[in-house]
Amino acid sequence: MAKVEWDYIVPVKMPAALKSVEPGKLHPSLLRDISSGGKLFYLAADAWNAMVEAAKAAGVELKPTSSGDLYRSYDSQKAGFLSRYSLENTGTGSTKTFEGKTWYLKKGMAMLATPGKSQHNLGLAVDIANASEKKRINWLIANVEKFGWSWEVVPEEPWHIRYVSGDTPTAAVQEYVARNPKPTGMFGTVAEQKAAAEAKVAEPKANVEEAKAKPTLRLGQKGVFIKEAQRLLEKNGYPCRPDGDFGQKTQDLIEQFQKARSIPVTGQIDQPTWAALLA
Ligand SMILES: [Zn+2]
Repeated sequence: MAKVEWDYIVPVKMPAALKSVEPGKLHPSLLRDISSGGKLFYLAADAWNAMVEAAKAAGVELKPTSSGDLYRSYDSQKAGFLSRYSLENTGTGSTKTFEGKTWYLKKGMAMLATPGKSQHNLGLAVDIANASEKKRINWLIANVEKFGWSWEVVPEEPWHIRYVSGDTPTAAVQEYVARNPKPTGMFGTVAEQKAAAEAKVAEPKANVEEAKAKPTLRLGQKGVFIKEAQRLLEKNGYPCRPDGDFGQKTQDLIEQFQKARSIPVTGQIDQPTWAALLA
């Protein structure tokens, strides 16, 4: 393995599942909760968890600066940007272009990527708390490459690392995943998650549009939309009596269906569920 220096910067290999997504608007199935709070793209989550475990074994605690410093939605990136940049010339000399205008960094503020342009918007970046503390930075310098991470801008942003390993987790991450095949509350192995994510990407838009016109249905409700959902459940291989009555049996089937399709298990026929039923 090549020696990793402080200025270890390599380009991000873009995972296939992220190639056609809008930054900051990732489908929830592509994201995984991180135990310290916040979310990451699922392959980055494995790589992060593996690195956190190894660091802990070496007596180094790795945690994000806040739960908002992992995946950031477009709206939260925009809110952060607007709090740090102004349309008036602040005299700091640091500018960004956003929505066709020049924005000036406010005095005393750290730079921030424009909305949609940050690796945080793809769930690939983490800001590490107290990154430049000596023991921590030395451990990171020696280990980031092993877990598929690299810095982006140094020395200005020693805390900001991004997942660069694309669809091929490093040997150390694969070894971690093999030992932790089913993280709590999440579906499947890396291969299963990849298949699910790719299925999401390939999902035709028509059913998503159609789903938007459907109401969210829950236990105890009755009506024609429930009958329709029950027919769709049957069509998808979940035998049920289409009686237009959302009873316990229907809820159980919906939950099974949601689990199988790797969509949030809500027990309700919500928009992701409609979209999957209609696909
Ligand atoms: Zn960052």
